[in-house]
Amino acid sequence: MKRQSIGILGSTGSIGTQAIEVVRDNSERYEVDFLTANSNAELLIKQAIELIPNAVVIYDETQYSLVKESLSHLPIKVFCGEQSVIDYIDISECQTVLVAISGFAGLMPVLKAIEKKKRIALANKEVLVVAGEIVKSLVEKYRVDFIPVDSEHSALFQCLMGEDLNQVEKIILTASGGPFRNFTKEHLLTVKASQALCHPTWKMGNKITIDSATLMNKGLEVIETFWLFGFMPEQIDVLIHPQSVIHSMVQFSDGSIKAQLSKPDMKIPIQFAFSFPYRHANTFEKTSFSHLANLTFEKPDHERFPCLNLAYQALKKGGNVPCILNAANEIAVDAYLKDKIGFYDIPRIVYESISKISLIQQPTLQQLIDTDKETRIFAQSII
Ligand code: NDP
Ligand code: MG
Repeated sequence: MKRQSIGILGSTGSIGTQAIEVVRDNSERYEVDFLTANSNAELLIKQAIELIPNAVVIYDETQYSLVKESLSHLPIKVFCGEQSVIDYIDISECQTVLVAISGFAGLMPVLKAIEKKKRIALANKEVLVVAGEIVKSLVEKYRVDFIPVDSEHSALFQCLMGEDLNQVEKIILTASGGPFRNFTKEHLLTVKASQALCHPTWKMGNKITIDSATLMNKGLEVIETFWLFGFMPEQIDVLIHPQSVIHSMVQFSDGSIKAQLSKPDMKIPIQFAFSFPYRHANTFEKTSFSHLANLTFEKPDHERFPCLNLAYQALKKGGNVPCILNAANEIAVDAYLKDKIGFYDIPRIVYESISKISLIQQPTLQQLIDTDKETRIFAQSII
């Protein structure tokens, strides 16, 4: 059997390392074409020695010689910088590119991978938030498989397989509610990033873990849902489900609801994005209904968690506004992680950035890149 060749953008992160576990678990089906990291040279080298990809790229140029020397005895090409990733995707023969770089940095490699007709396994949600329209039109133009890895969107994708989208009444995006779900507003004024990093059900990278605590993650996912499936903001409901077992649901016009359930384990949606339209057996732990006695649901509290509504508003305004929301959020989350600002400064910085930066209704890619830069500078200035 010819193995599926996969390129992993962001192999040293939470999603990237779990994707490598998927490859290890099914090594007769999957092989790795390339790996990339931002600055974690040590882990990138370790992964490359184990998997012998055709190429690795380290973004941080200061780490290049270390990676190059450490792999010099192996038949692995070593590059550095973002442009090298784009150049390598241009010549790569891999079938699938997993996009597990966090934030805006995922955008340019995704656009190149679509143009080269790779299957896209998309973990990075910021790419669709920032440039959904451009990405969607390229996906249609090059007719590529564009499979979400985000657990909620993988769930929706699976619930919608074989269904008529016109018969969908409502999408119910589930959310764990994050580590501060039951905190009062007064308490939230004092919470630190270190407390947020103890997520109750998912073990994820730092940025998404803070987004999960503010509910901005769910807001970004509402926008992601819009671009992936074309549902209107009014059709997308958010429901807090702390156990993270139901990954999302679709309600149809006849009153039926389809849900996708599994252990909160990202290896499952990662593998599905590789195996679609098939399902491959694996050794991951399975859901046991006898342990699911207590599934609970509640409405999100928009007053304590204003980021969710900011994202709905950005989606309704459209144009470059979701790009502003994303850039301001990336800057604010970074500052919060460094203990430079408080929890409620995150929505403040996002709100002020959206109010300040000019709206562009039909932005070009260059205008989105400029919006991103301008917003980052503005957001830094109000920290
Ligand atoms: P991590 O922070 O754990 O990993 C990010 C990866 O991208 C690392 O390999 C990192 O390299 C690399 N990277 C970070 N910044 C840059 C940059 N500026 N340029 C190039 N490479 C960069 O993130 P996660 O794995 O948690 O998340 C990845 C994406 O997947 C995010 O968009 C997130 O929203 C999404 N996602 C994550 C989920 C999860 O469970 N973790 C669930 C659903 C979606 P290095 O290690 O060297 O810093
Ligand atoms: Mg998610």
